[in-house]
Amino acid sequence: KKQQRTGYVYFTNNMGVEIRERVRLMRALNSAFQKNHLFVVYQPQVEISSAKAIGAEALLRWKTAEGKYIPPDQFIPIAEYSGLIIELGDWVLRNACFELKTLLKKGYDDFKMSVNVSQAQFLHPEFLNSVRRAISDTGVPPHLLDLEITESMAMEDPIFLMETLHQLKKIGVKISIDDFGTGFSSLSYLQKLPIDQLKIDRSFVNQIVDANSSASIPKMIIQLCQSLGLSVIAEGVEELKQAEALVSFGCSYAQGYYYSKPLETLMLHEWLGQRL
Ligand code: C2E
Ligand code: CA
Ligand code: CA
Ligand code: CA
Repeated sequence: KKQQRTGYVYFTNNMGVEIRERVRLMRALNSAFQKNHLFVVYQPQVEISSAKAIGAEALLRWKTAEGKYIPPDQFIPIAEYSGLIIELGDWVLRNACFELKTLLKKGYDDFKMSVNVSQAQFLHPEFLNSVRRAISDTGVPPHLLDLEITESMAMEDPIFLMETLHQLKKIGVKISIDDFGTGFSSLSYLQKLPIDQLKIDRSFVNQIVDANSSASIPKMIIQLCQSLGLSVIAEGVEELKQAEALVSFGCSYAQGYYYSKPLETLMLHEWLGQRL
């Protein structure tokens, strides 16, 4: 009984710390957003065979006043929890569209911009309008904007999902399923969704050339895309060997440190300039 009690006390203490930490982060994130300590970086996406850039993914960054970087894996869930993600996500989307417009003006024709959409954003009643506004305010061609949703979101509310995806198709944007293979989508359901691309999760790309592990999952995803007429891109490509394996399986596009880390806009322009 005594042990049970201590166990209980220990547990609540820990929870208190966790909640306090969450509240602290939430406040800090809010003020970071107001103070312009958040910014967007862009990770190039390439065609493997030619190593030419085809687009980029917008990724959010938080640099504190002390110069410390807080990873998005830590603060995005907080932003989702507090609701700030609605405003923040819209801000990222607008930044990404402006950047896309700049690149198109510079002559990077057909450059695509991928933007992550969180579950709370996707479910928000103003989501479709915010996509329409970002497009009309910046004048980017909708088909060059690619919205990344995750597999778990795709499982949440099938009817609402289908309706929202069809509305997005009407707007003319592309839709990708991010981190594909980590959730448990039913394949027959997937087939019915009006999506354009699957992104093979980094965890599978990591193991692709391991002698001990098989490449059967990425192979299967690539074949699935071929038979469903979907585009496929691999994320987290860190070595030439991985890119080569992907090409041999029929995957044409990749993103990862092997090509480039996510870059601030100036560096992105420099990186692209060197590739011409
Ligand atoms: P994600 O959408 O799967 O983004 C890919 C993550 O993999 C990025 O991490 C990127 O920097 C990292 N990455 C890219 N290439 C490589 C590689 O070769 N090796 C390794 N080890 N990592 C690589 P990041 O920027 O830390 O973002 C983490 C996650 O945070 C993202 O995962 C996404 O889920 C979320 N996130 C980031 N920005 C946003 C945003 O603007 N909105 C929303 N809703 N989520 C975001
Ligand atoms: Ca993503
Ligand atoms: Ca991903
Ligand atoms: Ca991921």
